[in-house]
Amino acid sequence: MKCPICKYGETRAGTASLTLERHGTTLVFRNVPARICENCGEVFHDEKVTASVLRQAESAACSGVEFDVRRYAEAA
Ligand SMILES: [Zn+2]
Repeated sequence: MKCPICKYGETRAGTASLTLERHGTTLVFRNVPARICENCGEVFHDEKVTASVLRQAESAACSGVEFDVRRYAEAA
């Protein structure tokens, strides 16, 4: 797809790190599926990925995790 940020580059499938803050919990997910603009480097995640990451962040926050770095796993 055309990048909506720079309106110039094309996005390509890849992976990126994603940092999320939730209720005082900071989670870093590595290897998150993403589309990345070849021109400006903007990263886009689809809704399914975003929902999964948010769910994992909520459950980490409930467990009292303050900071965690994990590899993205879709099923979790
Ligand atoms: Zn772009």
